[in-house]
Amino acid sequence: MYINGQWLSLERTFPVYNPATGERLAEVVDGGVEQAEAAIQAASAAFPAWAATTAYQRSALLYRAYELMMQRQQELARTMTSEQGKPLRAALNEVRYGADFLLWFAEEAKRMYGEIIPSARPDQRFLTQLMPVGVVAAITPWNYPVSMITRKLAPALAAGCTVVLKPAEATPLCALAMMEIFAEAGFPPGVINLVTAADPAPIGELFCTHPKVGKITFTGSTAVGRKLAQMAAPQLKRMSLELGGHAPFIVFDDADPVHAAKGATLVKFLNAGQACISPNRIYVQRGIAEPFLAAMTERVGALRVGDGMEQGVTVGPLVNEAAIDKVHRQVTDALEKGARLHVGGQRLREGGLERGHFYAPTLLSDVTPEMLIYREETFGPVAAVTVFDDPEQVLELANDTNYGLASYVYTRDIARAFRMFEGLRFGIVGINDINPTSAAAPFGGIKDSGMGREGARQGLLEYVEIKLGGFAI
Ligand code: NAD
Repeated sequence: MYINGQWLSLERTFPVYNPATGERLAEVVDGGVEQAEAAIQAASAAFPAWAATTAYQRSALLYRAYELMMQRQQELARTMTSEQGKPLRAALNEVRYGADFLLWFAEEAKRMYGEIIPSARPDQRFLTQLMPVGVVAAITPWNYPVSMITRKLAPALAAGCTVVLKPAEATPLCALAMMEIFAEAGFPPGVINLVTAADPAPIGELFCTHPKVGKITFTGSTAVGRKLAQMAAPQLKRMSLELGGHAPFIVFDDADPVHAAKGATLVKFLNAGQACISPNRIYVQRGIAEPFLAAMTERVGALRVGDGMEQGVTVGPLVNEAAIDKVHRQVTDALEKGARLHVGGQRLREGGLERGHFYAPTLLSDVTPEMLIYREETFGPVAAVTVFDDPEQVLELANDTNYGLASYVYTRDIARAFRMFEGLRFGIVGINDINPTSAAAPFGGIKDSGMGREGARQGLLEYVEIKLGGFAI
């Protein structure tokens, strides 16, 4: 752990495993409420001096962290692949994407502008200034174990907040590597603190109820996000929640079916389907359903499953046994209710995969609203296709979910693209675009997918309050 500029050890530890091989990689300090309390106190003590630094000073430190991260990208990627499982190339992409947030907010820190607002009275002036919200408690998930840290910490630090980070118990090694970078970059003691723990619940509760925490920022499941919001509500704490998703992926018959199948396969099997923006319902218009399914069957069948450290592997393991069980339950349920299996459909245990959590990339069609997979987030390598006839009705089908994070549309008709962009009730709409994410663009969901935006100018605003000054002159 890293508290008040010091590395701390405890006798109590928990193991970290490689999900591809089952190998025990390390023992990590198992912190609890006592350490989280010390981290909050350190962050609170460091806050006034940090908030008083100039934006240029904060920017310089963020930029230094960016440089260190880029220098260590190969090392960080290897750590990520060994504890999280994604293929090395994907891990490297994530490290660069994560570094982008440090760079973006190093720049954005200098643009913490207020406003001067005309008054109706000649003897009055209004002005606004942005002030940091205070101590930020950040809880991050295992699926993007580096970029979810920088996406939260970079804007918080740029705004002048101090931070306590609790990473996911499956991926603390990435968080430790990031903390080494922040320490080396020269952030003052107490500005960034890390508490690792096997049991997140008591620490989450402390974050939500502690009077010295000004804001909670969380990425993870909707169930946990809701619980944290409930616990934090009596204190009226500021909250950003990036939660689950159930993205629709709509392919109209004016689109190129092969191009759309390529896009659907790439985004669906990214991170073995363990992404909150992963398509969970693929709607294909009947006119091109056959060539689309043929192209997708071929592409899904050609994916190579294995240890992400191996050259050529495109799909890594799932995070744990519970994930395998959930995916298989959804597939079995769909098949029992009449879905058609094109490829995959089973756990993989042969050819060196026996000790990891591997599931075959799977393609189902004839998926209907009665099936679990149509409603529940899969978070695994299963593509579920539904054929539709009526282009007017598909918008209704796509919007019929409690989630509202990402959505995708393939069409060559500009008017239809606009109608879909405006009609889809989701925070993100990719039009012929499977990667509508960037440090420069506001990422986030509506409804059960959470609240708040990360990245972009809006990402900084999540960590500030607006102060109004009225001056009678
Ligand atoms: P999770 O909610 O179980 O865990 C996320 C984090 O919350 C971890 O750090 C975990 O230790 C912590 N946590 C768990 N229980 C807690 C509690 N009671 N109190 C405090 N902290 C607690 O989710 P997960 O399985 O790690 O991640 C997968 C989920 O995250 C998916 O639903 C996915 O859609 C979502 N996700 C969303 C985004 C996004 O940007 N919207 C990004 C990645 C993942």
